[in-house]
Amino acid sequence: MKRLVLLGALALTVSCTVEAPQAPPPERTVTAFPIGAIVDLSHPYEDRSVFWPTAEPFRLKKEAEGMTPQSYYYAANRFSMSEHGGTHIDAPIHFAEGKNTVDRIPLDQLTGAAAVVDVAGKCESNADYQITTADLEEWERAHGTIPSGSLILFRTGFSRFWPDAAKYLGTAERGEQAVPRLHFPGLHPDAARWLVANRAPKAVGIDTASIDYGQSKLFETHRVLMERNIPAFENLTNLDRLPATGAFLVALPMKIGGGSGGPLRAIAILPR
Ligand SMILES: [Zn+2]
Repeated sequence: MKRLVLLGALALTVSCTVEAPQAPPPERTVTAFPIGAIVDLSHPYEDRSVFWPTAEPFRLKKEAEGMTPQSYYYAANRFSMSEHGGTHIDAPIHFAEGKNTVDRIPLDQLTGAAAVVDVAGKCESNADYQITTADLEEWERAHGTIPSGSLILFRTGFSRFWPDAAKYLGTAERGEQAVPRLHFPGLHPDAARWLVANRAPKAVGIDTASIDYGQSKLFETHRVLMERNIPAFENLTNLDRLPATGAFLVALPMKIGGGSGGPLRAIAILPR
């Protein structure tokens, strides 16, 4: 305990001698928190979690487990991974220089009303499907205009393949040579352009490994969104349990200082 206190004091001393921290982002004011059933939209991190072929997968190493000589139980592990794997967030800086790092994304952009666009039927027979502006217009005919400031979630149905990388990503191979073999749906860049120009989403999310489809070479959808400081949630799950409108999303990533992304615990509160 003494050591912890000392470390805290040291940290305080150090932070006083380095350059002044940036002003914190504006805070969200919550006037009423929704009441309703909670749905977990995150996959667990495990050895078998799906990661991009070139990323370092999740590893958990036991450092302690069991009874100590002092007769109390103690468990602690060490984990390591690339930022972009498992259910995670892409901070805008991932594809846009000078835009928000994960710790700088305003909390207001990570919480709010979810619009859920379900294109699973179209992805069933086409792993390379790209969600179109026409899909968004069709959704709006059924559910009304997507309100400005929504968190828009795209359901392709691919989370049912998790953690089978061959089915989920299109390949279980690892390394640079596997990247051209990626096949999974994503959001078409033109639809992303239409959204940012007309519907001002706070964030977007998808139940595949990337907001751009697997065959993307230029990652245009990432760039369109992130140049406007819009983050993306990737590898979401359980989107089939959400209504098209009315769910409240809370998507809080690990607050990595300067991070380009990181592990994300996302939940949705269903309307009653
Ligand atoms: Zn990512």
